[in-house]
Amino acid sequence: MTQSLVRLLPPLFCLVLAMLTYWQLPHLDAEQISLLTQLPFIVCGLAAFMAILANRSRDLGGAGTMLLGYWLITVFMQEPLSTEPAGQIFALTSLCLPVLLGLFIILPDTGWRHPGFLVLIAFISIFVLIVISLFQWQPLWFDTLMPSAGDPDLLNLKISSLSGLLFFLAFTLGVALPILHKEQLDTSMPSCVLFSFITLGWFGIPQISSIMFSAAGLLLIINQTHSLLNMVYRDELTQIPNRRALLRDVRSMGSTYALAMVDVDHFKKINDNYGHDVGDQVLKAVATKLRRVSGGGKAYRFGGEEFCVLFRGRHTDQVLDFLEDLRRNIADYDMTARDKQSRPRSKKSGEKKRGASRRDCNIRVTVSMGVADSQDALHFEGVMKASDSAMYRAKEGGRNQIKTC
Ligand code: GH3
Ligand code: MG
Ligand code: MG
Repeated sequence: MTQSLVRLLPPLFCLVLAMLTYWQLPHLDAEQISLLTQLPFIVCGLAAFMAILANRSRDLGGAGTMLLGYWLITVFMQEPLSTEPAGQIFALTSLCLPVLLGLFIILPDTGWRHPGFLVLIAFISIFVLIVISLFQWQPLWFDTLMPSAGDPDLLNLKISSLSGLLFFLAFTLGVALPILHKEQLDTSMPSCVLFSFITLGWFGIPQISSIMFSAAGLLLIINQTHSLLNMVYRDELTQIPNRRALLRDVRSMGSTYALAMVDVDHFKKINDNYGHDVGDQVLKAVATKLRRVSGGGKAYRFGGEEFCVLFRGRHTDQVLDFLEDLRRNIADYDMTARDKQSRPRSKKSGEKKRGASRRDCNIRVTVSMGVADSQDALHFEGVMKASDSAMYRAKEGGRNQIKTC
């Protein structure tokens, strides 16, 4: 829940920044205004470049669509929309932008090197080239095809109701699909839809396109940076912070803290008996328990089947009860693991194997812990060593127990 709220912060930040820029417009000189009109190319271009480096097809599609839209605005829509071809290109753009953004929302994020994505980009480029050439050679043809550039309505929108509907559909898909797929909400694409809708809907507002398209590009950059940082500091398997995050947090931790090293007992046997997949699921379940530690502790995956829990502002004797609860919680927990290795590939072989197959297994694991605090050593490395050797004493003492330094 808090994660989803955190994800709403970047689009809100970009929206507020856009509004502040709008209010500052009267105070900008000609040079600054000219820079502002180039800004969407710079930020959306940077966002596209980041997406290429990170091999992210959806973000590249979003940034590319925004670049294309802004290019059309700057090249073809600088005349009043009542004139040709500005009005027609405006109408066409207001239909194509939500369709393109909706397409990139629906399609899986395959990475831009995927042949399907490259074919799609080739089709879109050919379509754009054909349309632009037709405008140059047959402008009258579009009069019969295109809806007029919006009739004034309640909100005084410049776009047609069909375009409004397409924007609404694309936005709804962008918000609803991650929820349906139980994925983290990615605000980039719905925000691109929203920002381009605001631009085209209220096209008469001065500098609206440069402000809104810059905000969209900035958001794409922020969100991509955020998810890259998530990858750097989060353990892929268990989704809890990793060792690098621990070393980062230690720097801002203050001088009083307690550290518990946690090691799963006889974990190798779980791998040997049930397979690596089940071993992975056990690690995930242990991490989930560790994440819920009370007393203000924060859990990290240190590496392999070793974890640690860091308590800021506390000494060893103040955290023992919380760790004991945690140890008991893990030991009492009946983990049901799905055995993917022995899961039959086809329905037929599944029917044959049923009964004999080892599909679900109930596993219980225990952990051994060693605790030390900031009074036990001068530096963090020393505290880590002290808690590690306490943990090894817990192993020697018979496992499933906690030892202090
Ligand atoms: P002890 O009680 O003394 O800690 O014994 P142990 O078997 O838990 O410890 P040992 O160090 O002998 O084995 C740890 C095993 O954890 C070996 C390694 O293959 C396995 N392992 C490390 N990382 C992962 C992982 O990400 N997934 C799985 N499934 N296994 C892992
Ligand atoms: Mg172990
Ligand atoms: Mg170990």
